Amino acid sequence: MKVLKFGGTSVGSASNINKVIAILDKKSEDTPIVVVVSAVGGITDKLLNAGRLAILKDEVYKTVFEDIQNIHFSIVQELIPEDNELIISTIGKKLEALLSLLDGLYLLNELTPKISDKLVSFGELISSYIISETLKSRGIDAKRKNSQELIITDSNHGNAEVSIQPTRANIVEYFKSSKHRITVLPGFVANSTTGEETTLGRGGSDYTASIVAATLNAEVLEIWTDVSGMYTANPSLVKQAKPIEQISFQEALELSHFGAKVLYPPTVQPVLDANVPILIKNTMYPEDVGTRISDFTEKSIKNPVKGITHIDNIALLTLQGPGMVGIPGFSKRLFETLALEKINVIFITQASSEHAICFGIDTKDKETAENSINKAFEYEITLKKIEPILVESGLSIIALIGDNMKNYQGISGRMFSTLGKNNINVRAIAQGASERNISAIIDEIDVKKALNALHERFFEVETKQLNVFIVGVGNVGERLIDQIEQQHQFLKEKLKIDVRIVGMANSRKMIFNEEGIDLEDWPSAFDFAEKTNLEIFYNRVLDLNLRNSIFVDITAEEEVSYWYEHYLRQSISVVACNKIACSGAYSLYENLHDLALSYNTSFLYETNVGAGLPIINTLNNLVASGDKVTSIEAVLSGSLNFVFNNFGDHTNFHDTVKRAQFEGYTEPDPRIDLSGIDVARKILILARENGEKMEIEDIENESFLTKANLESDTVDDFYDTLKEDESHFQDIYASAKEKGCQLKYVAEFKNGKAKVGLREIPEGHPFYNLEGKDNIVMFYTERYPEQPLIVKGAGAGADVTASGLFADIIKIGNK
Ligand code: ADP
Ligand code: ASP
Ligand code: MG
Repeated sequence: MKVLKFGGTSVGSASNINKVIAILDKKSEDTPIVVVVSAVGGITDKLLNAGRLAILKDEVYKTVFEDIQNIHFSIVQELIPEDNELIISTIGKKLEALLSLLDGLYLLNELTPKISDKLVSFGELISSYIISETLKSRGIDAKRKNSQELIITDSNHGNAEVSIQPTRANIVEYFKSSKHRITVLPGFVANSTTGEETTLGRGGSDYTASIVAATLNAEVLEIWTDVSGMYTANPSLVKQAKPIEQISFQEALELSHFGAKVLYPPTVQPVLDANVPILIKNTMYPEDVGTRISDFTEKSIKNPVKGITHIDNIALLTLQGPGMVGIPGFSKRLFETLALEKINVIFITQASSEHAICFGIDTKDKETAENSINKAFEYEITLKKIEPILVESGLSIIALIGDNMKNYQGISGRMFSTLGKNNINVRAIAQGASERNISAIIDEIDVKKALNALHERFFEVETKQLNVFIVGVGNVGERLIDQIEQQHQFLKEKLKIDVRIVGMANSRKMIFNEEGIDLEDWPSAFDFAEKTNLEIFYNRVLDLNLRNSIFVDITAEEEVSYWYEHYLRQSISVVACNKIACSGAYSLYENLHDLALSYNTSFLYETNVGAGLPIINTLNNLVASGDKVTSIEAVLSGSLNFVFNNFGDHTNFHDTVKRAQFEGYTEPDPRIDLSGIDVARKILILARENGEKMEIEDIENESFLTKANLESDTVDDFYDTLKEDESHFQDIYASAKEKGCQLKYVAEFKNGKAKVGLREIPEGHPFYNLEGKDNIVMFYTERYPEQPLIVKGAGAGADVTASGLFADIIKIGNK
């Protein structure tokens, strides 16, 4: 004997019912089957809605009724197209009874739990009839039995408790005499001892099936639904979730109690007691393995965490006060008060100081709980021994479940560090002594992020998803996007990092896609994009609330850099190509580093100096490993290098600068490069990385430009003055040439002082042969006193800058 239960979706349409029939036909070949069915998908909600509308005197209840009627009739027409008059008329009579009930409610204005049970029972009563008639019409020996005649409960309408003894007796008695290949039972519905219609609570068909399976000592209880088993997390919230192959009864019990809706919580106990295994299967994909729930114990030492669940709509109540310390009986009184009100306590924690007891309940019960507790402790509250109960809502519980967690160290450590890294505030924590469940209360809005982050941490150790938001999709941005697209597969396979770009903005428009923007065709997404607004961009990043979010600034805009601190405060990493923040006021630079540290996030800007060259990283490593940098000498401007390498006998200065700009080697405003400001900023950043509290004014800057160049108002004016002052530049060139020197714009840092300026470099000096847009940095340190540590290579250009940004992103991924 096997017991199979089919849920709402499985019997939600004629084509799905045909799948059910095929499964039943096959399964019943060698053993009798009891099949428990839910109402047609969505019907229970529609019935409740019709009732609610009727008592509100809203005539729309009739439309809802017609909808219910049409759904059932059309399913029957499709399943049994011929000789169906009797079936149609039987269903018609049931529907007539339903309509009279609704009409009665319309007049009465009241929907008691008792009537509500009568109302929703129509769903299962009709669906079970349709299914048994369909089986019969296909020549399969089937018989429908009304579970209301078998399952006996108390009179707690809406969520009745089963009276086990009479129920078992009825089931045993019935199946003693009834021997059919398939017996069809409506799930969910029952009768009270006083003969009134009751129901077993929403989702209760699973429970009906479990009681029958346990009583008949079935070989197996199969729960057929719309997913391929019990998943590692709710598959509708966590895309990466996977079905769990094997799980113990206790684990299934915890998972279902903590929100895994796929199994109605009371279902586990009866089959656990009778040791009947449960198999969860997908009606749409019957060949999928599904989940087997049994008395199985995990032997292998794989992942001790079996699943991650959550419950929404939690209110957290805290009872506290000095009068609670050391006095016995407070908890007893508190929980007795809740029990009297039939309020289910889902979560409890009490600090060992006993100063406060904190517990979680369903939000719907919060007013009742608040009033009854304040009343029960009225005396102590007036004496100020305890405070009126504190109620907070809008919360959820998330829980890690696994029998074997107790044998492992560090699971809660990993859980809470993952939540912390993702800026998820934990309001309360509970860990049962059995350690089968570690739960935490968090804000409802963080649930999806928390589930995904924890899932990634415990089940996808191999891949870490990085969610990147880029502001400034120009030359460099485009190259970065290309590189990310190109390397995507490699990073996923080799480094186990899945980089997705979720948001992009250029100066005009911005786009977002929670699933990751299609990198093959992203420019077309900008066609219908909204206008760029940095505040809206920031709010969108927060609303998306994705784990491992990284904000990437590829602009040269001061305004963008103002946003870094906001991102860091949300534990969102910042990668900047823009050097304004790091070369602005020292206090700003320091603040951003402090924020990154205290919010356990990263602020990286390798490309601020030498584009993709590992200059900042090298310096950081020297300092961190205890070396002392005595001096730094560097050529840090790819732009100025390009200019002075190309300016000579056959070119003029103006055209050389124009060409540098055209080829993308200068900042959008070439004056920033030519005036030496850009180099000054870079040496300032290096000095700061070396621990100097320096400001930009402390950098000595001997400009080679003329007064007219420096005072030009616009970029165009600047170019004009370059033309006018050509002889000045020719003189500079001639002087160097005469001495056999090369012109290099050099930055130096020594003894806590820094300066930048144009130098004539003699032959033989490491800077002499520096070509094109190359940069070079020489670090003289205690460990490298004579022969400096040299970093050299292309220091400008879209490709290398993009790869520097990419390296920073990957560094965050590897953290
Ligand atoms: P049925 O109508 O078949 O009883 P339910 O809607 O009651 O189906 O339960 C199945 C649903 O449970 C799935 O579609 C899924 O959205 C939800 N669910 C929540 N958590 C889990 C989980 N951990 N594993 C599988 N399904 C889950
Ligand atoms: N039809 C009921 C509900 O929707 C019972 C069930 O499907 O298990 O809650
Ligand atoms: Mg269900």
